[in-house]
Amino acid sequence: MTDCVFCRIVAGRIPSTRVYEDEQVVAFMDIGQVNPGHVLVAVRSHVENLFSLEDAQAEAVARATARIARAIRNAFSPGGLSVYQANGAVAGQTVFHYHVHLVPRLEGDGMAFTWPVRNPPREELESHAARIRAALS
Ligand code: 5GP
Ligand code: ZN
Repeated sequence: MTDCVFCRIVAGRIPSTRVYEDEQVVAFMDIGQVNPGHVLVAVRSHVENLFSLEDAQAEAVARATARIARAIRNAFSPGGLSVYQANGAVAGQTVFHYHVHLVPRLEGDGMAFTWPVRNPPREELESHAARIRAALS
C-alpha cells in the first residue's frame, strides 16, 4: 500500500524513530507524543484493523506490546500506562494500518476517555452474549 503512511514507515521510505522490530512487528515513537514515551506497535504488513489480523500477527503484537510496556515503565516511571487501539473511523482510527498505542500516563495529563455506563438488565447481557457466541461458532 504505497499511500499508507505506516507502510511507508515500515519500508523506511519516510523517517520514523524505532524502538523495536521483529518479523511481524515494527514499533516506533508516535509523532504526536500525548506523553513522553508514547509508542505505536504496528504490524509490518498492511492490515487495516483488528478484524483482518492473523493469529500470528496478533500473538506478535501482544508479545511486543507487553515487552515495550515494561521498557516504557522502566525508562520513564510513569504513574500508569494506557493501551489504546481503534478500529474504524467511528472508533477514532485515523491511520488505517493496524497499530496499538502505548501511552505512559501522568496525573492530570488531560487524556480522557468517555465511558457512558448503562448497566442494562441481566437478560440483555444474556441476549448480547448469545449473539456473540453464535457468531464465534
Ligand atoms: P489512530 O488515531 O489511528 O489510532 O492513531 C494514529 C496515530 O498515528 C496518531 O497518534 C498520530 O500521531 C500517529 N501518526 C500519524 N502520522 C504519523 C507519522 O508520520 N509518523 C509517526 N511516527 N506517527 C504518526
Ligand atoms: Zn499500511
